[in-house]
Amino acid sequence: MTVRHRDGIHFEFEADGEAAVVADARNAVGEVNVVSHAHADHTFRSTPGTVVCSAETAAIAAARTGTEFEYVDRAPGIDLVPAGHVVGSRAALIEDEAGRRYCYTGDVSIRDRCYLDGFDPSAIEADVLVIETTYGRPKYRFPPQADLESEIVDWIRDNDDRPLFLFGYSLGRAQKLQWIAREATERSGDREILASESIRDVTRAIESATDLSFDGQPYDSLRGLTDEIVILPSNQARSEWVERTVDREDGLKAGFSGWAVDDSFRYRGNYDATFPLTDHCDFDELVSVVCEIDPEVVYTHHGSDEAFADALATEYGYRARPLKRDQRTLGEFC
Ligand SMILES: [Zn+2]
Repeated sequence: MTVRHRDGIHFEFEADGEAAVVADARNAVGEVNVVSHAHADHTFRSTPGTVVCSAETAAIAAARTGTEFEYVDRAPGIDLVPAGHVVGSRAALIEDEAGRRYCYTGDVSIRDRCYLDGFDPSAIEADVLVIETTYGRPKYRFPPQADLESEIVDWIRDNDDRPLFLFGYSLGRAQKLQWIAREATERSGDREILASESIRDVTRAIESATDLSFDGQPYDSLRGLTDEIVILPSNQARSEWVERTVDREDGLKAGFSGWAVDDSFRYRGNYDATFPLTDHCDFDELVSVVCEIDPEVVYTHHGSDEAFADALATEYGYRARPLKRDQRTLGEFC
């Protein structure tokens, strides 16, 4: 089998280059198409073959795109296991006809966070690991989750006399921020949690596919604020209406992402505070995933793919290589 990074990750069983399994492509082209989770860069616009994903991913993707699709949660030679990234996210375990086992992580986190269990690499047996490496450099080491969440709770409580604007991705971070804000306001009880309509749409899809519930109430940006907690999509952080509203209401802005480790993150979002709250593994966690699975070969993709493959090869003795887009993997590596 050959593994290639093209539009998505292609697992090619045959010598003719036809992809038997395609994971997370924008345009699904495999006989079998795995969708690891419902972030926009992992879902597709057309579905020629079988779609393999979790029921939660199908529900959230349908709500986000407005298009329902048929799916199965397993297929011959393919099993899905929780990847701990966002609700419904799955890693794919693929076995070829020769019995060689591949693990494709999709986006992955091993941390238990709020309402989500982390990925469990100890349960995985794979000869080949294809892993995302968004934070694959040693500078990306994040504090323990409990410390991070209580730091956020403290910050919210310390600033209880003014409106707070919290920014995160609509799927994943925005729900965790509602969860943490609820914890932070439990004692006072009367501090409102508000969320933008786009976040509420995604939240409703999650609520309909799970037994989770979140507190974000509709936010009307024209209303006057006192001490409310407003959760907004991170791509709105520098928008003019946000800057105007924050000024008008004397609010504070906080950004939540693993990129918070870089000083530039604070300036890019014009944030008053930043926290490395993330839905991905940090560097040490990526290393632990590899060591727990202990595959013969590791392919890295996204973010620090080269740096992480180098670290695996030089410090841990793994055969590791970045999966560069549109480059074929070498024969001896397959
Ligand atoms: Zn993702």
